[in-house]
Amino acid sequence: MSAYELLHFNTAVAAKKPYCIANPQVKCPFCDRGSLVNILAEDYPILLVMNKYPVLKDTYPTVLVETADCQQEFSDYPKEHLHKVISFGVKKWLEFENSQQFASVIFYKSHGPLSGGTVKHPHMQIIGLNTVNCYKNVLPEHFEGIIIDQKDGVEFNLATKPRTGYTEFNITLTNPKLAKIADPVKSTGPQEELQGLELKDYLNPEQLNQFADYTQMATHFSLHYFHKNCNSYNIFFYRLDDRIIAKVIPRFVTSPLFIGYSLPQVSDNQDAILRIIREKYF
Ligand SMILES: [Zn+2]
Repeated sequence: MSAYELLHFNTAVAAKKPYCIANPQVKCPFCDRGSLVNILAEDYPILLVMNKYPVLKDTYPTVLVETADCQQEFSDYPKEHLHKVISFGVKKWLEFENSQQFASVIFYKSHGPLSGGTVKHPHMQIIGLNTVNCYKNVLPEHFEGIIIDQKDGVEFNLATKPRTGYTEFNITLTNPKLAKIADPVKSTGPQEELQGLELKDYLNPEQLNQFADYTQMATHFSLHYFHKNCNSYNIFFYRLDDRIIAKVIPRFVTSPLFIGYSLPQVSDNQDAILRIIREKYF
């Protein structure tokens, strides 16, 4: 079976989008909270809204607005807010999965000019895909790595087989209860005992907080200690059976070898990266 999957991009919608990431003249759509419509869920200051600019066809695109303040950044959030954002986001993402309305569900964050994002205001996106399987080209190897730390069933590693390169961090939370949530990619429904229960009954808050802490650490390292020119990163979330995984990728211009041949690369300075992280955060 071919591993080819294709999303359809709507250029007319994209042309109307406010590109405020590199242009201070353009008004931030998420600062003006009063004007936001189609609010799906709220836990102040966090909001889940429908994306006003649905550039991807056949999708259910939502935006998770993380803060009321444009100047805040995920890597610097106080612990309490960080935990609130991650637990809100993971719950909503898994609710989308459990709803069985989509072929697969994308959950990710972009920060900085090289991340592919167009709006600076701290936000993430949860996108239900009606027909496309976003996991077709995702391999278990992408999440293998040298362990930096582990606690409460959560592992923080430096990828040895990155998806694109050159440096990627994986944060993996393992909990058998996660396998009970419906998995659209495997076409499994929710297990019986999940019906009538809230997803929060299936997620362990301490584990999720540890997952959030390691994820934040990887973003903070990327922006502050990794490379003097690094001002961008992405976080991608994946679900594999009884695991949820956050992959943090510091972003630069993408290697032409990846663009042309899908050939990932891994840096040879992994020892130095591990040494700095252990020194600064543990
Ligand atoms: Zn803003």
